[in-house]
Amino acid sequence: MLDVIDLGKKFGGLPVLEHLNLRVKPKEITAIVGPSGCGKSTLLNLIAGITGDYEGQIRNRAKKTGYVFQEDRILPWLTVYDNIRVVRDDTDEARITQLIDQVHLTGFEDYYPEQLSGGLPDVKMVESKSLKLYL
Ligand code: ADP
Ligand code: MG
Repeated sequence: MLDVIDLGKKFGGLPVLEHLNLRVKPKEITAIVGPSGCGKSTLLNLIAGITGDYEGQIRNRAKKTGYVFQEDRILPWLTVYDNIRVVRDDTDEARITQLIDQVHLTGFEDYYPEQLSGGLPDVKMVESKSLKLYL
C-alpha cells in the first residue's frame, strides 16, 4: 500500500504541495485531478522518485513503476532501436527486437523519430515500453 504522508514540495522557495496525504491500496485505481498547475505532475514525479528533495514521507513505493510522461521523452538523435537500448542496463538484442515487433515497428529500427510519420505505428508506444523497462 502506497502511503504519502504530509508531503510538501517547494520550487525555488514557492510551495507547490503542502501537507498532502494519500493512500493507494493494492490494485486500486486512483485518478489525480485538478486544474493546470495545481501540482499533479509534481506529485506523480515525487511518487515515481523522479523528483526528490521533499518534506514528509512517501512509504511503500512500488519496486517497479510504469510511467508515461506528459511530454515526449524520445531522444531525437537516436534511432528507434537505440532509443530502446539506451534505457536498458543490458544489451539484450533479442528483447529489444521483440519490443520493436510488439509495437509493429519492425523494419523501422534504423529510423529516427522524426522519420516516423503520423501514419506509422505510434512511436510513443515504443517510448512507453522503454520507460517501463527503465523505471
Ligand atoms: P500540473 O501537473 O497539476 O499541471 P505541475 O506539477 O506541473 O502541475 O506544476 C505545479 C506548479 O509547480 C506549477 O506552478 C509549475 O510552474 C511549478 N513547477 C513544476 N515543476 C517545476 C520545476 N521543475 N521548477 C520550478 N517550478 C516548477
Ligand atoms: Mg501535469
